[in-house]
Amino acid sequence: MSKSVGNVIDPQAVINGTKVTDGKVKQPAYGVDVMRWWAAQSGLDAQMRKNFRYLMGNLADFDVETDRVPYDNLLPQDKYMLHQLAQLCSEVTADYESFKYNHVLHCLETFSNSQISSFYSNITKDRLYCNPAEHPLRRACQTVQYELLSAMTCFLAPILPHLAEEVFQHPPFLPVENSIFKTSWYEADAQWSDAEVEAVISSAFCVRDRFNNLITTESPVQFHVIISAKPRLFEHLRVLQPELTSSSSALCEILQSSYVTLLSRLPVAVPDEANVVDGLCVHKDSDGSEVKDAFSLVVIPSEDYPCDRCRLHTARRRRELCERCSELMLDGWEK
Ligand SMILES: [Zn+2]
Repeated sequence: MSKSVGNVIDPQAVINGTKVTDGKVKQPAYGVDVMRWWAAQSGLDAQMRKNFRYLMGNLADFDVETDRVPYDNLLPQDKYMLHQLAQLCSEVTADYESFKYNHVLHCLETFSNSQISSFYSNITKDRLYCNPAEHPLRRACQTVQYELLSAMTCFLAPILPHLAEEVFQHPPFLPVENSIFKTSWYEADAQWSDAEVEAVISSAFCVRDRFNNLITTESPVQFHVIISAKPRLFEHLRVLQPELTSSSSALCEILQSSYVTLLSRLPVAVPDEANVVDGLCVHKDSDGSEVKDAFSLVVIPSEDYPCDRCRLHTARRRRELCERCSELMLDGWEK
């Protein structure tokens, strides 16, 4: 669709109609029902169904009463998602109050594509599928996904009521009140809005983007990333990885690499096969001001082999399991 060609459908025009300059009605007001029909047939319905199915599938064994992880025990990227959700909640609620239904749809579509699909679902696969059901980090991710599903169902209910009701009639929502239209409007918890968390994660995004630009089409999981960062950036990244080197830190999950080493200066010796690049992190500090911090990346192929189970390059021998997966199998994973 193109605005200049004139084949764009304006949701406000569908609901309220449009008038020409002499006051004659050019297009009648079709009302909200037709708007719903438009949303359902424009592809948003299919996209939301896909998202709901994904979230509900992951939450099949999650009981919010017993499995919810307290906010303080979530990883920074989990808290970041709740921070984003709190912003979405304010925006969508304000849009509904001022009848900006087209903007509601735009917000939900963007959030669903960029935050849920491209970011959060992408980085949390290992946590969800390779850890035991009761693992605290898996439950942490499910806690966030439960909030995402609850919020999206509520926000979409006025526009796609049948889809929202259908979702609400299935786990993880049962047993609760018998209709989503008898529950209260979704509200974000006040502590979710956290500028500190946003500052930390936006720093990690700078590093991730530089790393992804460098490796282009190769999978990040093949690499060990050594980050050398100036003090302020170093302190931000250290929140995500207190250890010097890790294969399981929050920073590893965001970068999707098999190993991350975090340093405050470049290593003295760099292997021949390493790619060394500089980067500049332009990010928000916790007080909201924009700051610039230089960093360098040394990217080397992981010295380890892909694990036959989780596919991280953290197995000491070819065609074997990594330490984490070996321990899980010995503990009786199948049970
Ligand atoms: Zn493994």
